[in-house]
Amino acid sequence: MQRFTCRCGQPVFFDNAQCTACGARLGFDSEALVMRALQPDDGQWVSEDGATWLLCDNAIQHGVCNWLLHADQESPLCRACQFNRTVPNLEQPANSERWARLEQAKKRLFYTLLQLGLPLATLAESPQRGLAFDFVEDQRSGQGFCESFAHTGYAAGIVTINLLEADDVAREEQREFLREDYRTVLGHLRHESGHYFWHLLQPDADIAGAFKALFGDEFEDYAAALEAHYTQGPPQDWSSRFISAYASAHPSEDWAESWGHYLHIYDALETAAAHGLVPQGPEEMTVQERITRWRDLSVTLNELNRSIGLSDAYPFVLNTAVELKLTFVDRVISLFQTLR
Ligand SMILES: [Zn+2]
Ligand SMILES: [Zn+2]
Ligand SMILES: [Zn+2]
Repeated sequence: MQRFTCRCGQPVFFDNAQCTACGARLGFDSEALVMRALQPDDGQWVSEDGATWLLCDNAIQHGVCNWLLHADQESPLCRACQFNRTVPNLEQPANSERWARLEQAKKRLFYTLLQLGLPLATLAESPQRGLAFDFVEDQRSGQGFCESFAHTGYAAGIVTINLLEADDVAREEQREFLREDYRTVLGHLRHESGHYFWHLLQPDADIAGAFKALFGDEFEDYAAALEAHYTQGPPQDWSSRFISAYASAHPSEDWAESWGHYLHIYDALETAAAHGLVPQGPEEMTVQERITRWRDLSVTLNELNRSIGLSDAYPFVLNTAVELKLTFVDRVISLFQTLR
């Protein structure tokens, strides 16, 4: 992520809707990928360059968004909120905060997808190949929900996230139960977006063959593979072949985990460059250079966390097999970029 500043000079975060120093309204411009400080003007908002903006309806009604839209835009929602198909029931008091957390993570996902120039279409824009998000609940959240456990996952253009993933206690319980080293909302979203883009790609024989050589047969029985993963656990040597234990469950999961890590690394390196920790941003590096940089930087990040009594922020090892998978993700992203 870049470093943003308000017009008063105060550093502000990507999620901020207001400057903590001068009180100015802030909004993110998803076309220029910059934060804009705004002045109210007759029901609209004006940025320093004189452009007029509207706030996203999810900001006005629910305070869960800080993205802007052009004053002449038809939809009352910002670019990222247009992808929501199911939003939480806000009569439940905790749900506003949970939704806000999901939105923050979703915005960060979209930021990198936009930056990489990946194609993004809503279901309305492309009923066959569009993307949508369902933020759902199950009986763990209360009576009246038909499902006892609504899984976070991906199917046919729809990313489903259980709202409880935005609840620290519930998510941590789930992480412990599944014996995972890392479980975050952003991690879920980046992972699920990997399923979507693979599905969107419609790979030619060359790419499909390279996928199979690296990850295995994506058409392997999915339900049986997941069942085996959860009952028998990962193979003993998983850490020398995969980025995570879960990646060993099925070739499609391995792909989605690799894609997710590609995005983690891209965003983290941009942040590191913006804060002067590395000399260049990820856009100026080859994938190999990014991997090398990130290997060093993630050790520093983990050591910093340990220095203040926290567990490792990035509990992963980029082994040689993972390196090849990340290089393949880079190839797929380049393909999308050339298709534009
Ligand atoms: Zn300010
Ligand atoms: Zn929005
Ligand atoms: Zn998955």
